[in-house]
Amino acid sequence: MRIASVLIPLPLPEAFDYAEPEGMELAVGDVVAAPLGPRVVRGVVTALRDGAGGNRALKPVAGRIDAPPLPAQSLAFIDWAARYAVDQAGLPLAIALRGATAPKARPERVAQLTGKSPTRLTPARAKVMAAAEVALPPAALARAAGVSAGVVHGLIADGALAETVREAPTDFPAPDPAHAPPKLNPSQAAALAALTAMIEEDRFGVALLDGVTGSGKTEVYLEAAAAVLSRDPDAQVLILLPEIALTEAVIARLAARFGAQPAAWHSGLGPAHRRRVWEAAALGKCRIVVGARSALFLPFARLKLIVVDEEHDASYKQEDGFIYQARDFAVARGKIADAPVILASATPSLETLWNAETGRYRWLKLASRHGGAVLPEITLVDLRETPPEPGRWLSPPLVAAIAQTFAAGQQSLLFLNRRGYAPLVLCKACGERMRAPDTESWLVEHRYTGRLVCHLTGFSMPKPERCPYCTAKDSLVSVGPGVERVEEEVRELFPEARIAVFSSDTIQSAEAARALIEAMAAGDIDILVATQGAAKGHNFPNLTLVGVVDADLSLRGGDLRAAERTFQLLAQVAGRAGRHVNPGRALLQTWAPEHAVMQALAAQDRDAFVALEMAEREAAGLPPFGRLAALIVSGEDPPTLDRFVRDLAAAAPNADGVDVFGPADAPFSLVRGRRRKRFLVRADRSVDLQAYLGAWRARVKPPASVRLTIDVDPYSFL
Ligand SMILES: [Zn+2]
Repeated sequence: MRIASVLIPLPLPEAFDYAEPEGMELAVGDVVAAPLGPRVVRGVVTALRDGAGGNRALKPVAGRIDAPPLPAQSLAFIDWAARYAVDQAGLPLAIALRGATAPKARPERVAQLTGKSPTRLTPARAKVMAAAEVALPPAALARAAGVSAGVVHGLIADGALAETVREAPTDFPAPDPAHAPPKLNPSQAAALAALTAMIEEDRFGVALLDGVTGSGKTEVYLEAAAAVLSRDPDAQVLILLPEIALTEAVIARLAARFGAQPAAWHSGLGPAHRRRVWEAAALGKCRIVVGARSALFLPFARLKLIVVDEEHDASYKQEDGFIYQARDFAVARGKIADAPVILASATPSLETLWNAETGRYRWLKLASRHGGAVLPEITLVDLRETPPEPGRWLSPPLVAAIAQTFAAGQQSLLFLNRRGYAPLVLCKACGERMRAPDTESWLVEHRYTGRLVCHLTGFSMPKPERCPYCTAKDSLVSVGPGVERVEEEVRELFPEARIAVFSSDTIQSAEAARALIEAMAAGDIDILVATQGAAKGHNFPNLTLVGVVDADLSLRGGDLRAAERTFQLLAQVAGRAGRHVNPGRALLQTWAPEHAVMQALAAQDRDAFVALEMAEREAAGLPPFGRLAALIVSGEDPPTLDRFVRDLAAAAPNADGVDVFGPADAPFSLVRGRRRKRFLVRADRSVDLQAYLGAWRARVKPPASVRLTIDVDPYSFL
């Protein structure tokens, strides 16, 4: 008798053992049904071993499910993912099985040619007869022919077409690498040559495709995909995008380039579509998948290239459920597949730039098609000289610029990189920010406790009456209003303007986001108050003014990537401005215009900015020079939570090269009735961070009412 280890897609600590029934002939990767308590659940066989001599009576596997087995690479990736995230392997397995558990598409009625000629051939009927070479559902056939459905039904009544029932298609049309190759400019051709050389090595490697908006990165990576597809008739290519809203545009480009629609994969698709893509990926029947981050977990039969577009985008970080950074996981997935990975960006992340600078990644730079200016005209607004009115957030120069832009019939974007309330506290007399003792992290005002708290160390104090630096009385101000507050101000200032807010609190679905973006692109909005999401890859031709309301918050305030994101945003705005008639400009409101990062931004110098950021991170041992992980503990009962947090703090292992900060109240210290506390772990790169976290977690057992979440490489510090 053999014993099958079956991993179940639930938050369970390990795979369970079952007996393999006589004659079932299981294999690793098989999808099976297995009893779990009173239920029968789906699972995947992760190992088989000889069970001779076992003295424990095991329940038998209930049966094999008719689905393609998970390939060995998928199992290896799931195992790696769980280890890296220090989480339960059932969680990434659940993502990997999302397409397998969806119901299959029902058989569909299609209209087929019968061989009989129509009794009467109108131009519309001729179009349908030509399009009917491929059997399609009547409505789709009418769409393909560009005629009304009545024409198709007329031909069915006439006997020239007949309706038959067929199984919904499982495969996707094969892309043709020779369909419509573009003409590349010399800079693109050079980058493609380097990528082709990497592809021909036929093994794992990472390339950074680095070029400003408009330099033609997409064309280059599509040609790299073409090279992969022509080399190997079974090769599959995965193209990851940070946002569903960008998918349609990229799919259209792929269809034009390869003469066939690629498979799309994201949460906005119906279950039958997901099932079809999942099976096609497993059976090698789709060769290009364009998808959101979870597409990494599709059971590719022969994955030969991964492209991560807009690799710097923070949306690649999955923050709920199983926590992962899809860009980093794409590199790991490429390593498991022994396949090349292309990271594309106009403003690469510091992590990726560091890997490029140190030679781990190939660095391919694309020249700007337009040459010249890369960033818009950037002006620093010194808030000490031209402060907003009391209780306001927009300075007179920014208000004047908005008024001018509005009067010219153009659009403004007011940007706050924080939708939350976690503000910075500073002295309006001397410009100093309130800091925790012996650290470089700023104190954040907390709404619930009325205290100033350091998110890094957990230090906290009541908000003082006098500035500890210059002793001015009542000089401390909290900077960083929420977007809604700025919206209110803009409405008062410009009652006749059309104003909208874009933040995850106000825009709660992909549909709503798309509608708002379309309204902005169509010029139906005059002033958009937005968090980060609004700037991503969208084209707003009439947007000429960007106002950064809180450039200081961009520099500090608990989020180590905030300055980087501000720089990325400005570069993206610039990429659009360069393509249109109206030049763009950006106004940055700051209390510290002399700050080196502000100066680098104003000078429009990416290299200087990156060098500064790198130096700061290196000095602090922060990523990419060190590693971070967060432990978030939450519970509804304060005494139980506090007791567990104390136990957890006491259980932190001592290790060289590891600093543990906290516990601190999380900035969102009360969420849906649960109080939250955070620890932050900083480790040298030489430390096995996962082993450290695993050892720590193994020393404590949270009570049932307390949840402990580990976030490796945190992006959100809330
Ligand atoms: Zn002061």
